[in-house]
Amino acid sequence: MAKTAATANKADSASTTNKAGSANSTNKADSAATEPRVLPVRNPRTGEIDTHITAASAEEIAATCARLRQAQAAWGRAPLGHRIGVMKQWAERLKAHRAALVEADSIDTGYGQISQVAPQMVIGTILRLCAIAPAIFEQARRKGTSPVPSIHYDTNLRPYPVAGIIGPWNAPLMLSTLHAIPPLFAGCAAIVKPSEVAPRFVKPMMETIREVPELAEVLAYVVGDGETGQAIVENSDIINFTGSVANGRKVAEACARRFIPSILELGGKDPVIVTETADLKRAAKAVVRGAVTSTGQVCFSIERIYVQEKVHDAFVELLAEEAGRVELNYPDPHAGQIGPFIAERQARIVDEHIEDALAKGAAIRLGGKPLNLPPQRAEHAGDSGRGGGLYMHPTILTGVNHDMKIMRDETFGPVMPVMKYRTEEEAIRLANDTYYGLSAAVIAGTVEEARRIADQLDAGVVSVQDTFLTFAGFGAGLQSDSFNFSGMGSRAGILAFLRRQSVLTNTGEAESMVDDSLKAVG
Ligand code: NDP
Repeated sequence: MAKTAATANKADSASTTNKAGSANSTNKADSAATEPRVLPVRNPRTGEIDTHITAASAEEIAATCARLRQAQAAWGRAPLGHRIGVMKQWAERLKAHRAALVEADSIDTGYGQISQVAPQMVIGTILRLCAIAPAIFEQARRKGTSPVPSIHYDTNLRPYPVAGIIGPWNAPLMLSTLHAIPPLFAGCAAIVKPSEVAPRFVKPMMETIREVPELAEVLAYVVGDGETGQAIVENSDIINFTGSVANGRKVAEACARRFIPSILELGGKDPVIVTETADLKRAAKAVVRGAVTSTGQVCFSIERIYVQEKVHDAFVELLAEEAGRVELNYPDPHAGQIGPFIAERQARIVDEHIEDALAKGAAIRLGGKPLNLPPQRAEHAGDSGRGGGLYMHPTILTGVNHDMKIMRDETFGPVMPVMKYRTEEEAIRLANDTYYGLSAAVIAGTVEEARRIADQLDAGVVSVQDTFLTFAGFGAGLQSDSFNFSGMGSRAGILAFLRRQSVLTNTGEAESMVDDSLKAVG
């Protein structure tokens, strides 16, 4: 079995450095018919294509899923304690390779601090589930006697054989890997595909998995694009997809055709309401952090700001003051607070939203547009190719309204559009006037006032007296359901990957169809 696994993992991971190698080596016969698809990968700090990946083909994905499915039978049948032991070993290997994982994620994203914490979030989640998984299984099992005293019932928890995990580019290591953990505890095998935009971390991640041979049998990372993702959907038994609403819909439709469950974690357009009674300084600090962290490339970034009209002008001044203190990680990648845009196409979308707002009457109070900054090689000798890319200073727009893309569509940049409201009802109506519903925030004079408003917002997570508290929810293992088009299915825990099978046992006489009709229903 170990041999199968080692081969599977070698085969499953298309190399991020070797154009021709990759996933194809053991599947030459399968893939001979199709040309390997070599995809360029752009470095966000330099704007240069500095690596390539070979996308795993549909045939390779089918072969990988078949191997995983075979290995899963033993993994799924093993006692939970056994899986916990293997997961603890993986946590140790993740700790041992932390530096390489951070380095790769940081090149993928241009992030500093966030790449530092990404492996820690993964390790923390594994260890947390090691501690609580036995209770989760125990509570999900039901055992007892039916109304007919001789008929007893029990619950088997049966994992879906193969879980397909498809991740986005904005937190590549964290989101792809976090979503693979609950299915592994459940007893599924997992195939994971991060975005083609940010695949460098896969190589060190594969190393951590190879060092735990039993895990390598049931966990495979592959690289590729949307086509590879489609093949995963076609060959898995349950899908956890994180990405855009547009692709989430395609995935949901494909899963529906196959009658397999899809868990969708999609985009957001998070509002914050700042009331007349709020501490405006506190609100300004919280809003800048919520809107600008990771250059705004977070699904639960603050993207719409509603401020009571009497305090609007004062708040905008404080917001500009706070946002003006934020500096780019440029030219020194180790200084400042915000890095480059990860995806070139995202910078174009941000620009388009700002242009649309300006054309419809908005005004820029701070910042402006994405900037194309050249690498500063001379100043950072030895740091070749760093300190360039597409950047953007925190930007504040006023005079916005709901006819503008900046208030309706996901922007995913460090942009803060501020709109006035008069009454509490109007603020709630505006915040809920969206086809998203991922999360939201309220900052008011008292917790009670904020809470009254929070309870009326249509969003899966609401931060009260702050923004961006979703992270604390992750740490606590909270589950929440996205509203509208921001997703489907709760942020998935172990139980989402288990099918409940009721086993009914009759310890009494078997009944006669003629003499005892319908007694057993009774
Ligand atoms: P995309 O929807 O473009 O891509 C997500 C993943 O799906 C990628 O791996 C992509 O591959 C793959 N993919 C694309 N098309 C298909 C398909 N038809 N079938 C299967 N897989 C497919 O999202 P982004 O990568 O642009 O990520 C940003 C989005 O993710 C934002 O909307 C953001 O809000 C959302 N997001 C949501 C989170 C949440 O928890 N709710 C968390 C983080 C991000 P490839 O990129 O290689 O083409």
